[in-house]
Amino acid sequence: MSEINESEYRAIGPFIRRYDRGNRPYRMPDWSDPADFYRWQDKARDRLKRRLGPWPRRTALKPRLLSRSEQHGYIHELVDYIGAPGDRIPAHLLLPDVKEARPAIIAIHGHGYGADDVVGIREDGSRRQEPETYHRDFGLALCRLGFVVIAPEMAGFGRRRELSAIADSRSASSCQELFIWSLMMGSSPIAVRAWDIMRTVDYLTTRQEVIPDRIGIMGISGGGMVTLFSAALDQRLSAVCISGYLNTFRSSVLSIEHCICNYAHGLLADAEMADYAATIAPRSLCLESGIQDPIFPIDATRKTAAILATLYHKLGYGDHFSAEFFDDVHRISGQMAYPFLAHALGLQSGHASGSLLL
Ligand SMILES: [Zn+2]
Repeated sequence: MSEINESEYRAIGPFIRRYDRGNRPYRMPDWSDPADFYRWQDKARDRLKRRLGPWPRRTALKPRLLSRSEQHGYIHELVDYIGAPGDRIPAHLLLPDVKEARPAIIAIHGHGYGADDVVGIREDGSRRQEPETYHRDFGLALCRLGFVVIAPEMAGFGRRRELSAIADSRSASSCQELFIWSLMMGSSPIAVRAWDIMRTVDYLTTRQEVIPDRIGIMGISGGGMVTLFSAALDQRLSAVCISGYLNTFRSSVLSIEHCICNYAHGLLADAEMADYAATIAPRSLCLESGIQDPIFPIDATRKTAAILATLYHKLGYGDHFSAEFFDDVHRISGQMAYPFLAHALGLQSGHASGSLLL
């Protein structure tokens, strides 16, 4: 309230006024001793875990190989494994054509026709050579750099939709049904999807092609949301890139129309996006956003990035944080993110096709 004068106050609606009154008890506090920050971080993470719960039982993964093909420079597997009991997660697994184990990236798609869109597969199932959508085939790009890449299908998309959405079109989602069902079960789309990422980490650690303590995650838009909350909850994710999402709740999902899967009970009552992102520190974190992104306005993204840059610097890990603001709309860039992830996860240069890292 103190930052808003009377005329500005009258010019905003009642809900935003309520936002300005929120004290958000799990906000990152002012601190001078890093030990105080890390104590807060433990509490904030624990609170988030309880907020998003109850969580499913962790059962055996029972993985299956659904298909396997050789592509130029990599092996492409379609696999699935158990997320929550009774619910299988289909995922593309791209394995660079090399002998030794590699760092891995979990590549999370946003809205659209699902995981196919991050690995260069069109809606009709054909493979393309050049990116055609806002996902920019970033899973495939990371595999070509030398990462093992897994692109799990998020609940409500692609192969994981209700019959009504399947009958509609390839890109129709079941976010609405996922929201109401998860709400009635005490959960949320964010929690369902974050759980599936934790199970995806479980799965990756069973694969001999993966170095288990070098697993990162990158996601865009709704996939950026999943990336943020998964990384906040699961400290096995040691490098994180959030594309086209990190902002403030106030300026994005509370001010501009967004899919209902962006909301979960009580998140804002506890903290803002920057606070949730702060629970990732000092693990490597980068963000990228187009300055013309119409649904995650750049001014709020810059403010959140500044908070995080200051935090990482103060913790003595300034080089573990990076941000790229590029002149475009809502899409993947990768220009800073790909080399950042490669450096953070110790990806050795070179892979089967002989290309080098940047
Ligand atoms: Zn949605």
